[in-house]
Amino acid sequence: MKPPAFEYLAPSSLDEALSLRARYGSDSVLLAGGQSLVPLLNLRLTFPSAVIDLGRVTELAGIRPLDGGVAIGAMTRQRSVERSELAAERSPLLVGAVRQIGHPAIRNRGTVGGSLAHADPAAELPAVAVALDAELVARSARGERTIPAADFFQGFLTTALAPDELLVEVRLPLQKGGSSLKEVTRRHGDFALAGAAAAVTVEGGRIWDARVALMGVGQGPVRATEAEAALRGAEPGDAVLREAARRAAADLQPSSDVHATATYRRRVAEVLVRRALQEAIS
Ligand SMILES: Cc1cc2nc3c(=O)[nH]c(=O)nc-3n(C[C@H](O)[C@H](O)[C@H](O)COP(=O)(O)OP(=O)(O)OC[C@H]3O[C@@H](n4cnc5c(N)ncnc54)[C@H](O)[C@@H]3O)c2cc1C
Repeated sequence: MKPPAFEYLAPSSLDEALSLRARYGSDSVLLAGGQSLVPLLNLRLTFPSAVIDLGRVTELAGIRPLDGGVAIGAMTRQRSVERSELAAERSPLLVGAVRQIGHPAIRNRGTVGGSLAHADPAAELPAVAVALDAELVARSARGERTIPAADFFQGFLTTALAPDELLVEVRLPLQKGGSSLKEVTRRHGDFALAGAAAAVTVEGGRIWDARVALMGVGQGPVRATEAEAALRGAEPGDAVLREAARRAAADLQPSSDVHATATYRRRVAEVLVRRALQEAIS
């Protein structure tokens, strides 16, 4: 398949990219790693007038310490995060999640910002961002704003970004305690049929903080607040984890498709939450 005709624009600075975005708005798409956008173009599922390639906007790439946590530029390749000691030290759940995205060739091109902005409900990074209460920094020619992850993801492939905005950075707080991301895929490297991300802090034999988010089971990442409430303050035994997993899956409304039924996804999600919690605690 060939993509539809479009104007190709390659800004070399963030200011230039923002002014192009202001000019073309919803008639444009941003090209980051192209791992989701190029298939969409080639399958003619999107018809932009202009493609703004962020490849030369070097200011958007980089991993830096921030307030004890870590800030990651939107154009940072997923492979760079995978190999970052700073990211591994401050956000192990993020690094563990990145390793489960596709294959190395995809992660060499795919970016952190592209994955978050694309907002695929089965993607790992949106679930991690929601679980860890990440902040997403959006910029336009009008200025900059910070959007909590809980407000950023608004539905299937839909985010809170305005047509003239770019995602410039994601900020993750220092992760305390253990974490795990478990998923079921048809083949290694595929998108998850269902998945669960968990980060748990245990102090004095009790769960002090628990964060759980699911993927592949809704229109976007799903935070399991009922499960988290059941875990906080409890002793981390098998019955507690089973009850938390039951609560996490209870209200899910996954869809059925050619890959899996809704019932299968809900059942698998429950098992994955329990396993992710077990691993995070151990
Ligand atoms: C075979 C295969 C397997 C894959 N498996 C997985 C998987 O298991 N898990 C997973 O999560 N992903 C998977 N992916 C997708 C991959 O992670 C992509 O990298 C990711 O979805 C998009 O990132 P990208 O940098 O390639 O963005 P692009 O494809 O370039 O862009 C994606 C969308 O985000 C927008 N966008 C990009 N950057 C910005 C920005 N800074 N601000 C605003 N909007 C922006 C674009 O306009 C576009 O709409 C897979 C891809 C392939 C080809």
